[in-house]
Amino acid sequence: MKVVAYSIKPFEKEVLVKANKKKHDITLISNALSLETADYAEGKDAVVVFTNDDVSALVINRLADLGIKYIATRSVGTDHIDIEAAYKTGISLANVPTYSPQAIAEHAIALALSLNRHLIQADEHSHNFDFKLDGLTGFNFYGKTVGLIGLGNIGQAIAAIFNGFGCRVIGYDVANLVNLAEIELLSFDEVLRQADILSLHVPLTPATKYMINAASMAIMKKGVMLINTSRGGLLKTIDIIEALEQGKIGYLGIDVYEHEKNLFFEDHQNDRNKDLLLQRLMTYPNVLVTPHQSFLTHEALQQIADRTIKNLDLWQKDKVVAST
Ligand code: NAD
Repeated sequence: MKVVAYSIKPFEKEVLVKANKKKHDITLISNALSLETADYAEGKDAVVVFTNDDVSALVINRLADLGIKYIATRSVGTDHIDIEAAYKTGISLANVPTYSPQAIAEHAIALALSLNRHLIQADEHSHNFDFKLDGLTGFNFYGKTVGLIGLGNIGQAIAAIFNGFGCRVIGYDVANLVNLAEIELLSFDEVLRQADILSLHVPLTPATKYMINAASMAIMKKGVMLINTSRGGLLKTIDIIEALEQGKIGYLGIDVYEHEKNLFFEDHQNDRNKDLLLQRLMTYPNVLVTPHQSFLTHEALQQIADRTIKNLDLWQKDKVVAST
């Protein structure tokens, strides 16, 4: 199968090439997919994308005109893809339904611990040979209540870690889940009400967009720690800033940001006009931002590459069957 893979970073190249085992003719390019770059797909069967590529109806229609039959995303989430538009054009879609949920869960824990124990400030001070302890007091996770919204692969992986810390783990999921022995299932509101630490593990959908807003934060404990490694659109960022201002949110750890498209994954240090909302967010010392890197472990990258190639293999089989 002839394929063009967009938004490829240097750290992905080797893993993808290895996973491919020369089965498919894949062109790896660093450009993000957009209306301007869609033409790189000319003459190909499939395109491979990532979370911040533009896979809107406009771009999908252009890809269809170029003869593209398949789009594979190297992510669990599909919120960046206009699924309806793909369906209308007959383009098949595939994602990586699961890969190392521990990679994301462990990053969420890293954010939580770094915030709680002020590791970033402590390291900065230490580098300046300032070894005072003022301002570095944290709190024990042991005995605290951790609220999880979304109890799928990642939600369950993080529950196991927090259980290991000796936390009480409560959670809410829209699905009727059973056999989650170590998670107490409660309503969405009750999880928000009781949590000392709240971590989000749901996909971005119309139902989850802005699930954390002024109204839902009103029922949370004052000073709650909020961790978001899922999708930026789960938080209404403007309301979060207000909650930080009022001390309602005591700590915020985010690996994803509402307006991260065309921003994250690239160096924007020298941009003249920087994202004002994100700049404002980062003025708070109790806010920790990482650039959508939860997936970035050797294990996760390998599994993403393997599954992406498997998706192409399956389509290739269908293609051969259909043409015989
Ligand atoms: P999953 O499908 O295993 O679990 C998602 C869970 O959310 C499911 O149990 C589902 O029932 C639940 N859910 C859906 N809508 C809900 C709602 N309205 N209210 C409550 N629960 C709801 O997915 P996963 O592998 O655990 O991944 C979760 C999300 O994490 C992904 O959708 C993706 O957006 C994000 N993610 C981020 C990164 C990163 O690098 N930052 C990497 C992988 C995944």
